Amino acid sequence: MRLGDDIDDHCSSCKRTTDHSVVSMMGDEVLRTRCRTCNSEHKYRHNKSRNKEMTAKEAFDKVLASVTGAQPEESPSTTKKKKK
Ligand SMILES: [Zn+2]
Repeated sequence: MRLGDDIDDHCSSCKRTTDHSVVSMMGDEVLRTRCRTCNSEHKYRHNKSRNKEMTAKEAFDKVLASVTGAQPEESPSTTKKKKK
């Protein structure tokens, strides 16, 4: 890792993990990064947030889980088509 390198980190302005550039380092430690989306510079957060954008499938599965988990079994027609 060197100054100017690409690095993933969580941006509080974008509220998600975005591409960043390394702008400050101490030895091998990245100290500061700059978000490539909004250009805001901030302390490197080690990408702590797990908000990395989900893949389409992950998002679909999550929605599906919340929908199937929340729905009362009212319509018999839908229970037949249950997907694993
Ligand atoms: Zn940003």
